[in-house]
Amino acid sequence: MRAMIIERVVDVSKEEPLKPIDIPVPKPEENQVLIKISACGVCRTDLDEIEGRTPPAVYPVILGHQVIGEIVDSGEKAHNFKKGDRVGIGWIFKSCGVCEYCASGNENLCDFFVATGRDVNGGYAEYIVAYEDFVFKIPDSFSDIDAAPLLCAGSIGWRSIRLSGLKNGYTVGLYGFGASGHIVIQIIRYLYPDTRVFVFTRSEKEQELACELGASWAGRITDNPPVFLNVAIDTTPAWLPVVSALKSLRKGGRLIINAIRKESSDRDVFHYIQYEEHLWLEKEIKSVANVSRRDIAEFLQIASKISIKPEITTYHLLEANAAILDIKSGKKPGAKVLIP
Ligand SMILES: [Zn+2]
Ligand SMILES: [Zn+2]
Repeated sequence: MRAMIIERVVDVSKEEPLKPIDIPVPKPEENQVLIKISACGVCRTDLDEIEGRTPPAVYPVILGHQVIGEIVDSGEKAHNFKKGDRVGIGWIFKSCGVCEYCASGNENLCDFFVATGRDVNGGYAEYIVAYEDFVFKIPDSFSDIDAAPLLCAGSIGWRSIRLSGLKNGYTVGLYGFGASGHIVIQIIRYLYPDTRVFVFTRSEKEQELACELGASWAGRITDNPPVFLNVAIDTTPAWLPVVSALKSLRKGGRLIINAIRKESSDRDVFHYIQYEEHLWLEKEIKSVANVSRRDIAEFLQIASKISIKPEITTYHLLEANAAILDIKSGKKPGAKVLIP
């Protein structure tokens, strides 16, 4: 089968990170299924892996953790699916299943969390194997291409909303409006109809898209919104939005940081956070780590009810480097999906 691999940390401004390769189709273990891939989303986390902010455990590895395809084979003890079922795989490839985090449904925090397309081969390929308990049926209302970004951007977006404590009628700020942000606004508009959404992004195209999708207001990252925010969700790769968002929060407001790693080298952001201006009056900061099966399963159901339509650009599998560069430049709005 054809696949796109990375072999080491690469500076994408200097060279193309992904290499095409021909390797044998993997064989499912007894409780795994083999999936013929029809679409795979490209995520900002893939760029984080390439540039070494969350590096793979071993090289070479096939990236990709928003995988849609069809079951073509099952291991001896795998009985959940039959040939031809349309399924998806997200960032959670497996967890230990017995620790206190797994037992309480917080398997995203498991010490033995295995990430698809980082710790094991992912979906920049024609086939993939996965544990059947970590594979999801995809609602019929989505095409393969539309379904792919739901598995990461959408599911982690839903986790961000859950952790934010959002209630109907709140004011919400979305910092960054890429693949996750533009799905998050659609969930909020549906589940919390009296909530006003304020979108902060440097891209004018994304500001326009935000207003089309129901934002009450859209502006730049450092702009002051017309009202203070109960909740802010940051999906950017930078630190500046964290500082700006804290400033715009109401008393007791909560900021959710939905980014596996920040790209900017300035890890010293707390130097810039002034206690009185940004944190005083019971404001909170909370990060989102990984994703649980519950997040993916719930979000797929919500998405099918409100027929979320992600804004998508498609690329052939062998054009994966172009998709990565488009994520890096931030010039094309919406989600990116590879087709083998
Ligand atoms: Zn992702
Ligand atoms: Zn565990």
